[in-house]
Amino acid sequence: MEKKIKKFKTFLKMNNSLCSAEREQITRYILLRSDHFSADELYLDLKQDGYAISRATVYRTLDLLVKSGLVENTQLQSGSYIYEQKKDEAHHDHLICNECGKIIEFHSDKIEAIQKQVCEENDFLMTGHTLRICGICKECRKKDK
Ligand SMILES: [Zn+2]
Ligand SMILES: [Zn+2]
Repeated sequence: MEKKIKKFKTFLKMNNSLCSAEREQITRYILLRSDHFSADELYLDLKQDGYAISRATVYRTLDLLVKSGLVENTQLQSGSYIYEQKKDEAHHDHLICNECGKIIEFHSDKIEAIQKQVCEENDFLMTGHTLRICGICKECRKKDK
C-alpha cells in the first residue's frame, strides 16, 4: 500500500498537482477495497465513514488515480463509469448487466490470445485493453419472464 501511495504522490508531483490530505485519504480508502464502485457510491461510503470530503474532490481524485494507473475504470452502457483498484493479480475482463448493474469478472485465455493475434496481424503494440460485454444477467432474465 505505501508503495502505491508513493507512486500516486510522485505522479501528482510530476503533474504539478498537490497531494492533499483528502486525496491521500481517498486513495487509502480505495486501496482497502476490492469491489467495483461508482464515483457517487465512493463519495457516499466516505461520507458514511465520517470523512468530510466534497463530491468534487472525490471525482477529481478518481480522475487522477485513473491517470496514474492505480485505478481502472470501465464505462457502462449508460455512459457513467465504474471504478476498481488496479490489482497486481492477473488481468480480467467484465460482463456487465444492463438491468441491475451486476458485474461479473472473467478471464479467458482464448480471448486474450486472439487479441494478441489481432495486434500482431496489425503490427500493433498493445499496452493494455479492457473488454466489457454488456447484456442481461441470469437473475434479470428470470424476472422478465
Ligand atoms: Zn482481457
Ligand atoms: Zn442483472
